[in-house]
Amino acid sequence: MNGNVVIVGSGHAGVSVAFKLRTLGFKGTITVIGEDIYLPYHRPPLSKKYIANLADEERLYLKPESQYRSEQIDLRLNCRVNAIHRSQNQIELEDGQRVHYDTLVLATGARARTLSEEQGGRAQNIHTLRNLSDAKRIRDTFTPNKNLLVVGGGYIGLEMAAVARSLGLQVTLIEREDRILGRVAAAQTAAHFKSLHQKHGVRILEGVGINYLERSDDRVEKAGLSDGTEIDVDVVVVGIGVIPDVTLAKDAGLQVANGIVVDHAGRTSDTAIYAIGDCASFAFRDQMIRLESVQNAVDMAEVVARSITGASASYDCQPWFWSDQYTTKLQIAGLNSGYTHVAVRRKNDSSLSIWYFAGERLIAVDAVNDAKAFMTARRWLSSGQSPDLDGIANESLELNTLTLSEKTDLVT
Ligand code: FAD
Repeated sequence: MNGNVVIVGSGHAGVSVAFKLRTLGFKGTITVIGEDIYLPYHRPPLSKKYIANLADEERLYLKPESQYRSEQIDLRLNCRVNAIHRSQNQIELEDGQRVHYDTLVLATGARARTLSEEQGGRAQNIHTLRNLSDAKRIRDTFTPNKNLLVVGGGYIGLEMAAVARSLGLQVTLIEREDRILGRVAAAQTAAHFKSLHQKHGVRILEGVGINYLERSDDRVEKAGLSDGTEIDVDVVVVGIGVIPDVTLAKDAGLQVANGIVVDHAGRTSDTAIYAIGDCASFAFRDQMIRLESVQNAVDMAEVVARSITGASASYDCQPWFWSDQYTTKLQIAGLNSGYTHVAVRRKNDSSLSIWYFAGERLIAVDAVNDAKAFMTARRWLSSGQSPDLDGIANESLELNTLTLSEKTDLVT
């Protein structure tokens, strides 16, 4: 197993594929090229423990620097790849230098979406959170009693609101859609998190957008909201989703459609080039999807490493995700897109699980402070088994006593 593997992107996916190749006995050269300046790190703690000052920078690193050396992984940081020259099997760095590859892996991730000019544009105190540099800037501004405006009621926005409250900021969170978590969770999950944040003193405004941001010296000082109110603002954090980083792939003529299109083995439309992680779009339950999760980055990396080393490999995606807010842990198993019914099991005020069905088939679960429901759901989802909806909704029945059946149709 020789050859020259070049990986673009030093995030979770890029680093995972590099180390997995070595674990599988790959003897060739491995080069990881990333534009980030920091040793590769975990992103999830950025919006959780890191900004809350509960995790040091060293604890974020995926691997110590020495391990890249001992595994002979050539890690080139602060280095941007500008182009792929497919006919010559080369990539071009920003200084014009070219690097040959036998196999290229694109692990370019995603960029945070920013406010459009109509929504308020940019200013010194408007932040997005995607990397460690962003987190450091935000952490420096999160001081007690400042007025924080969070734009966007998705997981990043909610985690930022929770961290900010723990640091003593006054927080208003606005969500343009009818409710928070509209894209990713059922109304029952959203209602639980809305109430949790309100109990912690976050002002949540749903169906409300920005009309204008009033500035002085390139700093936002007031926000005019679409409900007619005007609020004082010291800091704005924008959490309105991400855009997959497909520029290199697109410019090189690879197939791109909301992500770099890959087959079951992670191969792009050029068989010498793979794509993994947040930037990759793949088939799942008869549709093309992109996932933004650590699970997806790591699992796709493993499939691609196997494929590069000649083993048969196919991505059997079993999505899972988590979010920490205050002392609440949300664990999500499966993917709820296309759900037709929801059943809720409530243990108590702080612990519940929300079960998503497409017809009679279980497709996902949101488990709030309920690790048992999460683990059970993962087991059932991976074996294709579904409990019946009435059984799930009956809280007096233990999960392990429910009758299971195999459901393959999405909607019956
Ligand atoms: P990325 O981590 O985005 O890495 C891609 C890298 O490629 C970047 O460093 C980028 O700079 C680099 N790059 C791009 N283009 C080039 C180029 N041309 N040349 C050189 N380098 C380039 N997931 C969970 O499962 N649970 C969570 O709780 C969770 N919380 C999160 C909280 C935050 C604040 C963020 C930002 C993400 C969170 N995620 C979470 C998502 C998870 O971190 C990502 O899905 C995962 O990091 C994706 O890894 P990746 O390697 O595909 O992409």
